[in-house]
Amino acid sequence: MIDLHLHLDGSLSLEDFKFLSEYNHVELGDDFPKNVYVPEGCTSLEEYLTRFDLPCSLLQNEFSLAYATKSLVNRLYEAGYVYAEIRFAPQLHTLKGMSQEDAVISALSGLKSALKDKENFDANLILCCMRQADYETNRETVKLAVKYKNDKVCCVDLAGPEAFHTGDFYKELFDEAKEGGANIIIHAGEACGSEEVIRAIDLLHAKRIGHGVHLDLTRENVRKVTENRIAFEFCPTSNLQTTSLPNYETVPLSDFLKNGILVTINSDNMTVSNTDVLKEYRHLFKVFKFAKYEVRHLLMNSLDAAFISPELRSKLAVEVDKKLDSFYQKVIEY
Ligand SMILES: [Zn+2]
Repeated sequence: MIDLHLHLDGSLSLEDFKFLSEYNHVELGDDFPKNVYVPEGCTSLEEYLTRFDLPCSLLQNEFSLAYATKSLVNRLYEAGYVYAEIRFAPQLHTLKGMSQEDAVISALSGLKSALKDKENFDANLILCCMRQADYETNRETVKLAVKYKNDKVCCVDLAGPEAFHTGDFYKELFDEAKEGGANIIIHAGEACGSEEVIRAIDLLHAKRIGHGVHLDLTRENVRKVTENRIAFEFCPTSNLQTTSLPNYETVPLSDFLKNGILVTINSDNMTVSNTDVLKEYRHLFKVFKFAKYEVRHLLMNSLDAAFISPELRSKLAVEVDKKLDSFYQKVIEY
């Protein structure tokens, strides 16, 4: 119903793959569609990330990027979502001549075109810096997040292999983002431990943490995240696939909720992880046996954590309540 952690390149539909492969004259490979999903027996985040090479190769021009963004927004709307924040790294789309700004403008045009005929639904873009990129490339991404912050770009993120550099390496970069008034999310505490989550908050000004499941819930850490209303974007299936967590039973949902932490449920990658928000709630329901009010609490957490105006938040909360019964039924019937 609401997805705050959703990567565009990891969420192309099979139809998108087919259409864009013809349009771009790129072969999908003999093992398509198997090769678009997480590798069998995947053992690490690094291995998981290899699944982004093919979709990225299809998104190297303005038309393709706009097309893919529009397709994703349309699919979310048709599936009954009320809000989504779609993220991508503009710097990964510059292999065939687009600048990072061309990439942002293209994705924005796809987003806006899809939103034109939709009511009681909204979506924004998040621009990702990459841990393995050089400083100037990431700086360009930060500048674009600042430039387009009032034009449907709601945030700047740091993604990529978490073990590449620790958070302190990016301090200057995110100082600049903060000074420019951009909201900040950091992928942290997924492949690495609690200290990366704390660095993201203390050094990189993160308002939300992508994953963060490895945060140690010490009294001091709980105080820090609750006082600063830091939101956590859990993506359970993705965490199992990258072996960040061994099974759904170990998703620290109850502990985070018990401590009053703003935790949200998201998909990460609809295609690579073969999931969506409904499936994530279903997987977790099997373990946590949510009551309806608990599902509502989690959905309202997502609205609380969303980078939207108070007016839009109130309006979307009404939509969540309208759809709650049928969503809950779909979660528990599975
Ligand atoms: Zn992610």
